[in-house]
Amino acid sequence: MRDRVAGIIPLNALDVINLLFHENFNLSRHNTLGLDIRARYFCDAGNQQDLSEALAFARDRELEILVLGGGSNVVFSGDFEGLVLCVNFQGVQFDDQKVLVGAGVNWHWLVRHSLQKELYGLENLSLIPGLAGASPVQNIGAYGQELDRVFVALAATDLHTGEELTFTKSDCRFGYRHSIFKDELKGQVAITQITLQLSTEYTPILEYGELVSELERREIEIPKAVDTSDAVIAIRKRKLPDPDVVGNVGSFYKNPELSSQTLTSLRQRCPNVPSRKTEKGLHKVPAAWLIEQAGLKGEAVGGALVSTQHALVLVNQGNASSQDVMALATRIEHQVQSKFDILLEVEPVLY
Ligand SMILES: Cc1cc2nc3c(=O)[nH]c(=O)nc-3n(C[C@H](O)[C@H](O)[C@H](O)COP(=O)(O)OP(=O)(O)OC[C@H]3O[C@@H](n4cnc5c(N)ncnc54)[C@H](O)[C@@H]3O)c2cc1C
Repeated sequence: MRDRVAGIIPLNALDVINLLFHENFNLSRHNTLGLDIRARYFCDAGNQQDLSEALAFARDRELEILVLGGGSNVVFSGDFEGLVLCVNFQGVQFDDQKVLVGAGVNWHWLVRHSLQKELYGLENLSLIPGLAGASPVQNIGAYGQELDRVFVALAATDLHTGEELTFTKSDCRFGYRHSIFKDELKGQVAITQITLQLSTEYTPILEYGELVSELERREIEIPKAVDTSDAVIAIRKRKLPDPDVVGNVGSFYKNPELSSQTLTSLRQRCPNVPSRKTEKGLHKVPAAWLIEQAGLKGEAVGGALVSTQHALVLVNQGNASSQDVMALATRIEHQVQSKFDILLEVEPVLY
């Protein structure tokens, strides 16, 4: 097989493959935290043929594969010595109220495009960065809605065998910012397409006070889907640092879910701790509140900083190294644990 490598790999002239493999590739524009790290190889697969070529390339060289979307939920602890494979399948196909979406489609574009098609169900998930293919990985969620509410199935390719697979909703084992792809199938498959069930009827999800207040501020009593989407966008722009301006991966920690007993004992020490009851009867406590109460808002290690805008977000002030980010995270986890006896769980995927 002939390799097309942008680097120093010798070429064998016998066979031709179309995919371009970059060597010693800088990933700083491929992770929204903006860490200056490198991949030994990088390629961008736009279709199943590209994907097969990428898998063969990795297999021939015994390289580990890391599948990447928009890089908005990954934290690299250093250079990656394998093949970083961007799954960039395009295409959106509407089939009545179902939509089949290529993994490389920009998530927020999909939300707004569905609204234009008068198909509803994604509006609370407006402005989440990244690509559609990553959306099932952590069952993206915001403002009272999670992906699994509209998810039907996905197509994926086994990274080791090249076999094309289908996962139904129950196969994905969705949970709070969780799925099988963050767990036992981490690094095992490339998701190539997702199928969602949207609706021609809009049912507002207005569980979050902040969203209700924003709609009230806009003097909207009965929101249309686009009103909700616009309100979510406005809140997010106000609240969260823009990764195009300052490197970050959004929430760095999940909100801990406590049993009633744990919450009661926590309230004996901290009567003001806010909480929200989950469908499972647990109590979600905002990790941002815990971090702020531990006195860590504005805390920095090297170029990594706990955002002064939102304590749940760690930002790269421009020159943060992976070590800075990990050291800051360790400090946060220790201090929150020693003050509240709660172990924070990191939300992005660490490599
Ligand atoms: C400012 C900001 C706000 C955010 N707000 C939210 C929010 O409200 N809710 C929320 O849930 N998330 C949020 N996020 C996190 C992130 O945007 C989402 O998790 C998003 O779905 C990640 O998409 P991505 O394409 O960037 O994935 P990446 O960061 O590239 O990848 C994330 C993980 O998914 C895997 N992966 C990616 N693509 C594929 C694929 N095709 N096949 C198999 N595995 C794949 C990767 O290997 C990695 O483990 C936010 C991030 C930022 C920066």
